[in-house]
Amino acid sequence: MKKHLALGMAAILLLSGCSGNNTAQTTAAPTAATTAADTAAETTAPEETEAEVKTGEYQADVVVLGAGGAGMSAAIEAADAGASVVILEKMNYAGGNTSRSEGGMNAAETVFQKEKGIEDTKDAMINDTITGGKELNNKELVTFFVENTSPSIDWLTSIGMDVSDVAQGAGAAFPRMHRPADGSKIGGVLVPKLMENLDSRGIQILYSTTAKELIEENGTVTGVIAEDKDGNQLTFRANAVVIATGGFGANEDIYVKYRPDLKGFTTTNHPGATGDGIVMAEAVGADTVDMDQIQTNPTVEISSNTVISESVRGKGAIFVNQAGKRFTSEMLTRDVLSSAILEQPEGYAYMILDQNVMDSMAALQANYEKGIILKAETLEELAETLEIDAATLQGTLDTWNKAVADKNDTEFGRDTGMDADLSTAPYYSIKVAPAVHYTMGGIKINTETQVINQDGSPIPGLYAAGEVTGGVHGGNRLGGNAVADIIVFGRQAGISAAEFAQSQEPLEAVLPSEAKALAPAVQGNFKDGTYEGTAAGNNGDVSVKVTVSGGSITEIIITEDKETESIFAGVLRDMIPQIIQKQSTEVDSISGATVSSNAVKAAVEKALETAK
Ligand code: ADP
Repeated sequence: MKKHLALGMAAILLLSGCSGNNTAQTTAAPTAATTAADTAAETTAPEETEAEVKTGEYQADVVVLGAGGAGMSAAIEAADAGASVVILEKMNYAGGNTSRSEGGMNAAETVFQKEKGIEDTKDAMINDTITGGKELNNKELVTFFVENTSPSIDWLTSIGMDVSDVAQGAGAAFPRMHRPADGSKIGGVLVPKLMENLDSRGIQILYSTTAKELIEENGTVTGVIAEDKDGNQLTFRANAVVIATGGFGANEDIYVKYRPDLKGFTTTNHPGATGDGIVMAEAVGADTVDMDQIQTNPTVEISSNTVISESVRGKGAIFVNQAGKRFTSEMLTRDVLSSAILEQPEGYAYMILDQNVMDSMAALQANYEKGIILKAETLEELAETLEIDAATLQGTLDTWNKAVADKNDTEFGRDTGMDADLSTAPYYSIKVAPAVHYTMGGIKINTETQVINQDGSPIPGLYAAGEVTGGVHGGNRLGGNAVADIIVFGRQAGISAAEFAQSQEPLEAVLPSEAKALAPAVQGNFKDGTYEGTAAGNNGDVSVKVTVSGGSITEIIITEDKETESIFAGVLRDMIPQIIQKQSTEVDSISGATVSSNAVKAAVEKALETAK
């Protein structure tokens, strides 16, 4: 991916002075405000609707299906290579499963590892990926993948993303899981950052626009037919199409077809992970691989379906069963741990941690705020609440703490994530069980991300990247390799698609107005003007400026806040557009960010008091 380095430099030049070292809050807020503002501005601009009314037919050099991490990375690279680009997204928000990723991005031989004296190698990462993947992986894809992880860390840094902290992940010989320095869940920071980069390049996401069918002419893919939320058919002509629609972990029909044993499993996936891209690709002759390789995450909190990152175990947490006993090394691969938990009589486990582990991870604190982690001042109190025999639990902790002191887990042979024992009260527990988490299989691609047909040849004009593809992770994906996959192959898909598109007659972008995709679902009933309001948030006041135009709320800008960035990001990304769409603050709060959500709603309500 030599071209990447050159493009990476271009991106640095383009962005120098605009993102830099801004704090997360100052970079996140304008993004959401811009998105909302764009929504609004387009809504009231009549000339914007002309193209769509006339034709319903649109075009761009590169049409990307899906606004997750892979699709947004592809779009950014394709635009930087000079192609006209648009993203179609079936949900009314971006981010897909990428938003839910917690741990970080695996990469080997990076600048951040070197700074910390970590002597990781690409060979070690290739070995870990293939061993973890039960040697089912496509070795060519894995080699390309690993070789391009470090350049992709540099690329992320160049677009303003902080991946400077390096943590130990399960199944990895060295710490290589890169993530934000403040310990935030990576998805909550990465998605707004990619959206900010789309904004600054003028790349549109057409929300509530579902790709339905690829257009094929003489064996070449030349576009896609999509449907908007009103059921209107939109035809997009393209020189190249990138499928980045994610996996099928939320489509029980598909996963049970390949894995009947998973019937009834819960899922950690967002509702858009329905495998559409695979179905569309198969319809034009694409081959698939490893469709039965489905990962169940061992540590999904039972009441909320929240994934508890394996870095919690990396920091020292253990599992106990209802009898208060450990039953496995907690650092084995995910599939082994899923089976181990399901083999317990109750089919769940408690993760036990102490204040020390809690203090080391912002993501854990966010989950505690969410109310899914139980706290007890003493181990005895914890045992009582969990209805576990206190003496047994105390014995388990004593044995474990001795194993940490001796660096020797004689019971289960755990040998990583043992830097600190569990002896600092208060204690915490999280009730976890396995759920469908990741679909390793999918569309067959080569290292150029070209989609491969059943005869083994690339389908001209068709590219795919991210969870919708198969082959990289083989029979089991290591934690931290999904984000690496979407960034490395997403970028490559953008570059390959742009290159192919530019070998064709260029297609100047003709797109529906954003008004079409993002218009308020209802007409507002307010007095035109600009209004301000403030309400108390988690860490201080949240202030907003609300613009009403043509009777409708057209823009909500956060003018002041001290909220935790990782928690606030979801409010900015998902809740503010909903308020504009519904012209009302009666929208769902963002899970895990109730206080911040309520603060924004209350501030908007205050602002609107004089607009009624
Ligand atoms: P990845 O991790 O591979 O980037 P994600 O799950 O993060 O995958 O993102 C995939 C995105 O694709 C989601 O936002 C999802 O809603 C979207 N998507 C799924 N099916 C379609 C479709 N038919 N048309 C447009 N977007 C789709």
